Amino acid sequence: MHNEWFRALPSIDEVQKHENYEVLKSEGLDEVRLTNWLREEVERMRNHIRTGKFSVQPEKQALIDDILHRLTARVLTWQKPRLEQVINATGTVLHTNLGRARLSDEAAEAAKEAGRRYSTIEYNKETGERGSRQKVVEDRLTTLTGAESAMVVNNNAAAVYFVLQAFASGRKVIVSRGELVEIGGSFRVSSIMEESGAQLVEVGTTNKTHLYDYERALNEETAMVMKVHTSNFYMQGFTQSVSSETIQEMNGREDILLFEDLGSGVMYDFSKEHIGQEPTVQQAVKSGADLITFSGDKLLGGPQAGIIAGKKSLIDQLKKHQLARVLRVDKMTFAALDETLKAYISEETAKALPAVRDVIEPADVVYERALLLADKLQAKHYKTEVYPVKSQVGGGTMPEVELNSFGVCVAKESVTAAELERTIRLQSDPAVIARIQDGWVCLDLRTIALDEIEDAAAAFP
Ligand SMILES: *Cc1c(COP(=O)(O)O)cnc(C)c1O
Repeated sequence: MHNEWFRALPSIDEVQKHENYEVLKSEGLDEVRLTNWLREEVERMRNHIRTGKFSVQPEKQALIDDILHRLTARVLTWQKPRLEQVINATGTVLHTNLGRARLSDEAAEAAKEAGRRYSTIEYNKETGERGSRQKVVEDRLTTLTGAESAMVVNNNAAAVYFVLQAFASGRKVIVSRGELVEIGGSFRVSSIMEESGAQLVEVGTTNKTHLYDYERALNEETAMVMKVHTSNFYMQGFTQSVSSETIQEMNGREDILLFEDLGSGVMYDFSKEHIGQEPTVQQAVKSGADLITFSGDKLLGGPQAGIIAGKKSLIDQLKKHQLARVLRVDKMTFAALDETLKAYISEETAKALPAVRDVIEPADVVYERALLLADKLQAKHYKTEVYPVKSQVGGGTMPEVELNSFGVCVAKESVTAAELERTIRLQSDPAVIARIQDGWVCLDLRTIALDEIEDAAAAFP
């Protein structure tokens, strides 16, 4: 260590006199905060000298420049949003890591306005008194699903927990072994059951569960039979499960509930487009479950939410339960959900919801966007290939479904696919999340909207 090297270290004052510091001050940061950050940067430089990071004696001006450079980076980093926008080039429509369903413009706008303004979230205009936030979308939910009553909680995991806690805590719940699913690692039927205090009674085998399996397990300690939609895997071959109708006939007793966790809340019948065999919420209600739960941000195409629909007497009990407050949903969510549900009044408007649209969009429409992107990248001297790919619905829904789609695979000489993928992910704003395949970086256009193509192309330097 050379003691005289510390003399190159500028004082706080000296850095503050620099014109670039004046520029930073005009960014609108609190001066005390800025000075604190500056102090930390000078301190950091002192440490560099102390620990021998310099091989020759540093010059004061160079240190000032360096300190200001780092300080500027810090200010800019602060100004950037922490939740960054990305272009989803994976083709997975409901990508849980990337935020699942994209909201419609109307729903996004409604959420924004609900955030900016006061609203009737818990206010009854007629009486001028306190109202219930559960009233906001209840009429839409009952109209669309055919259920007697409905309510909204934080997400579907919360909805499942709530139903089990409220109606089966300390009692037994019968579930088929074929339906003891784990979703995304964080949601396991058996674990959520344990948390709720309900006792799981497994019946049947992985591939087959018969009516007599349920019948044998039924006793005076049984609170409910739970059916779980096996959203994220598809069992084929020698399989059997028991329908809700049959279970309800067996139940016979009023006090044994049939609860169905539907997972994805499909209100648009995708089977009409020959996509999957997902039961719709309407069908589930019709088949006789006392309570059903589903997500707001999977195939429904709305914000994160858990919807509970079913018998009025049961939903009324849930609304009065202490947990209703714990699992309460924000006004912005209600506003977005409201606009999303509104769209389900006609097939045409439902099909325009981004999540629904992206799943049913024909491959030839995706192809047009692929050509457009390929053109732009060729103009930037990239090698491109437009070729057919299979997209996934994602979000643990319709795992057996492969959507015919088109992708653009991109390569450049002297750059590896890994480097290129890293560049478009880290050096671009918005980042592009793509896949590497056989030495190419591949972008699936199913999840890239027309107005994102410019940005997707710009991500390639
Ligand atoms: C996705 C899913 C859940 C969890 O729903 P979230 O909205 O993610 O909380 C629960 N059960 C099933 C069957 C699911 O598919």
